[in-house]
Amino acid sequence: MIKSHLYESVSILPGVGKKKVEALSGLGIQTVMDLFYYFPYRYNDFYEQNIYNLQDNDKAVLRGTVTTSPILSRFGGKRSTLRFKMLVQDLTINVVFFNQPYLRDKITLGEDLAIYGKWEQSQLNLVGNKIIDPQETDRLEPIYSTSASMKQWALRKLIRITFDKYGSEIVDLIPLKIRQDLHLLPEDKMLWQIHFPKTFDEVKAARNTAIFEEFFLYLGRLRWLKKEDDQDGIAVQYNILDLKKFIQTLPFELTNSQKRAVNEICYDLKNKYAMNRLLQGDVGSGKTIVAALGIFATFTANLQSALMVPTEVLAAQHYAKLKKIYQGTSLRLELLTSGTSKIKREQILQKLITGEIDLIIGTHALIQDDVLFKNLAFVVIDEQHRFGVNQRRTLRVKGLMPNILSMTATPIPRTLAITIYGSIKISTIKEMPQGRIPIKTLWIKNANDPLINRAVTFELAHHHQVYVVAPLVAESEKIDLKNAQDIYDQYVKHYPDVRVGLLNGKMKPEEKEQILEDFAQQKIRILVSTTVIEVGVDVKNATLMIIYDADRFGLSQLHQLRGRVGRDKYASYCLLVAHPHNEIAQKRLELMVKSNDGFYLAENDLKLRGAGEVFGSKQSGDINFKIGDPLQDQKSLLLARKAVDQVFSNDPELKDAQHANFANFLLQTQNKDETID
Ligand code: ADP
Ligand code: MG
Repeated sequence: MIKSHLYESVSILPGVGKKKVEALSGLGIQTVMDLFYYFPYRYNDFYEQNIYNLQDNDKAVLRGTVTTSPILSRFGGKRSTLRFKMLVQDLTINVVFFNQPYLRDKITLGEDLAIYGKWEQSQLNLVGNKIIDPQETDRLEPIYSTSASMKQWALRKLIRITFDKYGSEIVDLIPLKIRQDLHLLPEDKMLWQIHFPKTFDEVKAARNTAIFEEFFLYLGRLRWLKKEDDQDGIAVQYNILDLKKFIQTLPFELTNSQKRAVNEICYDLKNKYAMNRLLQGDVGSGKTIVAALGIFATFTANLQSALMVPTEVLAAQHYAKLKKIYQGTSLRLELLTSGTSKIKREQILQKLITGEIDLIIGTHALIQDDVLFKNLAFVVIDEQHRFGVNQRRTLRVKGLMPNILSMTATPIPRTLAITIYGSIKISTIKEMPQGRIPIKTLWIKNANDPLINRAVTFELAHHHQVYVVAPLVAESEKIDLKNAQDIYDQYVKHYPDVRVGLLNGKMKPEEKEQILEDFAQQKIRILVSTTVIEVGVDVKNATLMIIYDADRFGLSQLHQLRGRVGRDKYASYCLLVAHPHNEIAQKRLELMVKSNDGFYLAENDLKLRGAGEVFGSKQSGDINFKIGDPLQDQKSLLLARKAVDQVFSNDPELKDAQHANFANFLLQTQNKDETID
């Protein structure tokens, strides 16, 4: 191994003691290298702005001349205001700083000043956030995600120090030839531009290189570890007769696609290699029952299964549903969530070890916990919106090699899937269960359109149920969005004769479960909710879905939401309420009205997203990459795959001098679980 300070602990940095090591570790930063690769998630633009271009509540830098002496008023404690007037272009505005009394000395009558703050149009107020150094107006300010014990400024300073001290040790991990062919930046330049850019063009170029590199290193590791990947798993010797008998008890006939998927899964289960399969099928196509049959097959071989879903609400619902499905059988299943009592939890953990539970249902955190199994042979990961390579590795680290089935309603192009997962196989459910009537979707521009009320009244009169979705907005966001509470109040007032429920992400799991249960039991007739219902919730009697501020959701999210209705033989409707000015948002809504086909929508979603949205569009959640997004940055991903192929086919052991840094990186980080994911 090549010795380098980059792979050493951050504690070698000046001023980093035990406390700071801990604080950094809380952000996932252990080594000097981690610090270099801890990227800002956005940038403040400190370029001065034209005051006439600003809108109310915009954040901006304004430069002007101080025209009154600053007046400081103290209110006890640390509270104070600092007020003065400033001439900006030809407007005299009021500037106020809250609780920053020490700024008074920096403000001198008649001098020029640039201030970053929030613009309040109607009163010509600038609520100051900070005074900008003259040098600062010609660069961007990086914003990192930080914590209480590691503040923004401290982190920024530390990164700067790290550059000063160890910047010269930064080496190129991407081999020179590839870097040249693809016009990528040298490593040190890339890192510098990410942390201290002057312009957004610099950010863009640096991000391009960083994204490629992230994929390159990820795929490089995948290749490096390939031998491990091909290990044998557990052969599930299931009883085909029992499985067939069980299928006879289902209240419906499986569709052809479902049958094929079940066969493919069972074939993999029976073989001794560890299955790695993706089941994709549109919302409502019936993926759950396919998984349930795999689980049942596993059960007939006296082996255990785990079902993991993204939210606790869903976990509870799957539990209820599967309990019903497995009713007349001796399959023992349990639900394990954060709401499970301590005593019950311990009982469950014990029974998993002794093999007295055949199926455990929980969230994705299930396997990360200290859960041990007697013989876990089959893991189903439901609503894997995006890519879940992590789970597999986590399991392997625990010494488990179960068969894995990931399920998604958002189809992934085959080449992408193979690239990301390595050797994944794919099953696709192409048709919907019989008798479904396509959902009719309308786009309504005005939230007060009487059509909305008419639709609700009509569906209620026919004893059906209604979902109402509103995006949850952060308090700081002052855009005119309906939030769930407001909408709830409105519906309660409007429909006094029926019970209206409210569901949001902040509720305790028990509360959520109770509300969903009441909705399923038709006690609640209108359910107002944030997107917690996005995935998987299954109430057949619901026939109307109203989505406020629909332009705030992505296409696949909208499609998922819409999929909550139309789950039975009743005609169903989806009303998208929004009046966006943004062209892409309009396109999305048009597509929703036009098509019910999730695969078609996913394809177009990609096309729409391909163009704009370079920054800040990355959602957290299941995506395992720090900076790259396999869908959005597909080109980069495929280029990285090609590059990795090239490197390994010329130099399988990475002995060549030009691969030394890359090899060293893999060696240095091999024991660290998931450095790059
Ligand atoms: P998803 O693929 O979105 O997870 P679900 O598994 O929740 O879909 O299935 C949607 C609904 O369709 C469920 O209520 C399920 O019981 C029902 N269903 C599944 N398969 C069939 C089938 N072959 N015929 C009729 N109904 C089915
Ligand atoms: Mg589902």
